[in-house]
Amino acid sequence: QEFRETLEITPLSTGDLIEPHRISVCVRKRPLNKQEVAKKEIDVVSVPGKGTLLVHEPKQKVDLTKYLENQIFHFDYSFDESATNDLVYKFTAKPLVQSIFDGGMATCFAYGQTGSGKTHTMGGNFTGKQQNSAKGVYALAAQDVFTYLNHRRYTNLDLSVYVSFFEIYNGKVYDLLNKKAKLRVLEDDRQQVQVVGLEEVYVSSTEDVIKIIQMGSACRTSGQTSANANSSRSHAILQIVLRRNDRATTLHGKFSLVDLAGNERGTDVSSNDRGTLVETAEINRSLLALKECIRSLGMNSDHIPFRMSTLTKVLRDSFIGEKSRTCMIAMVSPGMTSCEYTMNTLRYADRVKELKGSSKASGAPKTQELVNSSSEEETVVDTSVYD
Ligand code: ADP
Ligand code: MG
Repeated sequence: QEFRETLEITPLSTGDLIEPHRISVCVRKRPLNKQEVAKKEIDVVSVPGKGTLLVHEPKQKVDLTKYLENQIFHFDYSFDESATNDLVYKFTAKPLVQSIFDGGMATCFAYGQTGSGKTHTMGGNFTGKQQNSAKGVYALAAQDVFTYLNHRRYTNLDLSVYVSFFEIYNGKVYDLLNKKAKLRVLEDDRQQVQVVGLEEVYVSSTEDVIKIIQMGSACRTSGQTSANANSSRSHAILQIVLRRNDRATTLHGKFSLVDLAGNERGTDVSSNDRGTLVETAEINRSLLALKECIRSLGMNSDHIPFRMSTLTKVLRDSFIGEKSRTCMIAMVSPGMTSCEYTMNTLRYADRVKELKGSSKASGAPKTQELVNSSSEEETVVDTSVYD
């Protein structure tokens, strides 16, 4: 019955149906880029399917092509370089949309080293020619939110959609929709956390949200040189918020979509520059805090160490409540020179996955099978009405 209801509000084919786990962890490999190809970079990551990912780690620095050791990882889903944003979205954030309509908090994290594809996955790429295929998780989630909003199951809730977009850099919050205004984070005596003065923009269409993403993203990167790429050292958080019109705009549900700071900072302690060291310490702290908080959610623990970092403080609601759903997409670069970072990313993701308890292989099909997924198993349901 529950499944059927999910179907009714999801105008897609039956191949798209997935029960959301409380916590899911997936991995996405990006393709080698032109520069890497030009430099004859070796692709050391492969995705044989079934949520599996292999890293052919060089064991010897002399001849990198020899003595490769296979490291195998298992996740809920693994996506190879041919996967589109649409496909990745479908199996990661999409299943979480319903939970915010049911009054829960959903959170999707993009984790990985700088250049691994976090912003491409979350924000999409609206500068290219293919505007239509450019949508990332932000826009795709917004699109589904509006589909749900107009579904009869939820119209009686009288909901409105709002969006906020902010950045956390060195533990401070900056509003990307208000000229990077620095905002204070306050916690009241009931442990409710509030970002004081955060802009929340009313939106009525996916196009509205896309405009906001573009505006906020421009704000994120402006005044930045390549040598000082702030955006790779900050977390960017887009929140899609549902509020009740009939109840003084009380919060109903919230989807937080997080483009995390590049995790390579966590391992880079060679710098003598004080600013860099502070940044590094802060990123380390927040990524560690994040792992601990997801762990608490996975264990249904009463104690959530959300005060460990600003990131987890502002996402406090994500780690509590029966209806909270979290998904992490770990991004990896394919090149051999990124191997160390890739291994760090995968180990982190593996830890998060282990913490969630039962992490049996989900039997996720290979990308190719996902693309072609037909209604073989779910022939019981007639989807024609939803197309
Ligand atoms: P990050 O945000 O993790 O630092 P980006 O998303 O900015 O990395 O990606 C770095 C570059 O690689 C960008 O030019 C982006 O367009 C490209 N890229 C990333 N992932 C993919 C992908 N799956 N397919 C094609 N290009 C990608
Ligand atoms: Mg980025």
